[in-house]
Amino acid sequence: MTAATPSLAHRVAEERRPAPGSPTDARHYVKLWQEPESLDGERVSAFVLILRTRGCYWADVKGCTMCGYARDTLGRSATEEEIGLQLTRALTAYRGEPYVKIYTSGSFLDAREVPEASRAQVAKAFAGRARRLLVETLPEFASLPTLEALRESFGGTLEVALGLESTQPRVLAKAVHKHETPTEYLGAADRVRRAGASPKAYLLLKPPYLTEREAIEDTVTSVARASEHFDTLSVNPVHLQGGTVVEHLFRRGLYRPPWLWSLLEVLSRGSRLRAPGTRLVSFPTSGGNPRGVHNCLRCDPALLARVQETSLTQDFSRLDDLPECACRETWRHALALEGLAPEA
Ligand code: SF4
Ligand SMILES: [Zn+2]
Repeated sequence: MTAATPSLAHRVAEERRPAPGSPTDARHYVKLWQEPESLDGERVSAFVLILRTRGCYWADVKGCTMCGYARDTLGRSATEEEIGLQLTRALTAYRGEPYVKIYTSGSFLDAREVPEASRAQVAKAFAGRARRLLVETLPEFASLPTLEALRESFGGTLEVALGLESTQPRVLAKAVHKHETPTEYLGAADRVRRAGASPKAYLLLKPPYLTEREAIEDTVTSVARASEHFDTLSVNPVHLQGGTVVEHLFRRGLYRPPWLWSLLEVLSRGSRLRAPGTRLVSFPTSGGNPRGVHNCLRCDPALLARVQETSLTQDFSRLDDLPECACRETWRHALALEGLAPEA
């Protein structure tokens, strides 16, 4: 593993930062959609909303190597009124889905992104209508009083997602470029539990500067180390977002998104290492596409369907008899050959 060049990360962060948005921009949320989910063992539809806020403060400072969400932000803080308008618009598309996920291209619990009153407004809008509300945050904003207040405003199950990515400090700092340590993420997960909410972690498969084999081992290790602290672990294979370090490296032939065979190995081994009761899932973005997790592109649809079914049912025996494809041998060779390469 080689170290990142700080100047590259800062240059990329500078290029993707949007100019401050107008009041018209601020009235429009980024995106919303419905997606299949599992809730208390039942197949449900989840309502997913991305609010337009100032976005992640860390993306302005340096940002993570795979994250291009800064492009979806407002370039300034949104006011309470502006967030209220986005919410009102979004609610016209809400059909009573029992699972609601609210994202902000950053941290829902950072008051610079979502003022305290707006947090409560969002939670109350779904109170009594949804059974589970998911928000995402960096660990430093997940204080006990903030979590408890949000849980009380909602009333149902509050799920708090943390982008842990890796439990290995060196990978997190040098390959992902996170500002916080794994210990801070695990501490935040424990606070989420103390507040009566459900902690979920995102684990990143194949940050840059790791070989494919190192990436597999990193995520398997992270599943084993993190699972005591989280109710759900979601493996997110890197997909190429615009304005990111990974995209910059990809364009120069220095990065390939992970193989789907690698994800299948992670899920299979991880399922045997996780703590009892911890859900292990993966819903890859851009799966089966050259910019996301992929194999030869021919076998991808059938294998991605297995990943989705396994994630929804938690029946990992579905990964025991995978359809074969010649590219599995190519993947094995790629792993073997990169192991022979001299250390950079
Ligand atoms: S991955 Fe999370 S912490 Fe990193 S820049 Fe993106 S939003 Fe911020
Ligand atoms: Zn194939």
